[in-house]
Amino acid sequence: MTRRYVVTVDGPAGSGKSTVSRLLARELAYVYLDTGALYRAVALKVSRSGLAAGDRAGIAALCGETTVTIAGLDGVTRVLLDGADVTELLRTPEISMLASAVSAVPEVRQRLLAVQREAALTGGIVAEGRDMGTVVFPGADVKFFLTAGPEERGRRRWLELRERGHEAGLGEVIEDVVRRDHQDSEREIAPLRPAEDGIVIDSTGKTVEQVVDEMLRAIKDKENRVL
Ligand code: C5P
Repeated sequence: MTRRYVVTVDGPAGSGKSTVSRLLARELAYVYLDTGALYRAVALKVSRSGLAAGDRAGIAALCGETTVTIAGLDGVTRVLLDGADVTELLRTPEISMLASAVSAVPEVRQRLLAVQREAALTGGIVAEGRDMGTVVFPGADVKFFLTAGPEERGRRRWLELRERGHEAGLGEVIEDVVRRDHQDSEREIAPLRPAEDGIVIDSTGKTVEQVVDEMLRAIKDKENRVL
């Protein structure tokens, strides 16, 4: 039997990571792990607590008394926040921006590290996020970094929001995406960047299927090299 790999997919907001990672996991019969959902869950708790996004000490303290666990790993990463399933509350523009602020707090990243690593213990996982290949799974078998131009990323996010019933202006969504990436790339801890041994794929103008094919070929190549 072939080994069950740890595959990582990192990249900026709207690069198509989630769609592609979910499909890739399905093709490989692997588990799909959406790590952004974990940061979003902490952001939800911060939002409910009334703490300001810039109150790093307050956020660190709050996080210390918060439990985030992963419930389902079958195409949707269901997240339990202090025991309650909050999955459906996480994908709003407000929580996106707050998650980006919250994720720059070292105590938050540290707290979520174990949850993520535990999910990959058995291998056979496609883990999606910002620092999968660089920090969380530096020894991953195959690492991808997915990117796309800002306009295209903004458009994808805008369509996704509309599908979920959030009406927002396209220009505003593009600005949000660019601002969030800047924040994620410039932070001191675990900044968004490709792993040195990562495969960079620009998805601009490519279909989801094309990108997934490219990834499957890279994984096959790796298997052939190992055999
Ligand atoms: O991927 P998603 O848009 O759900 O992530 C929300 C935010 O969580 C990102 O903007 C980023 O700041 C943070 N994040 C992170 N590290 C990860 C996944 C997400 O810092 N591995």
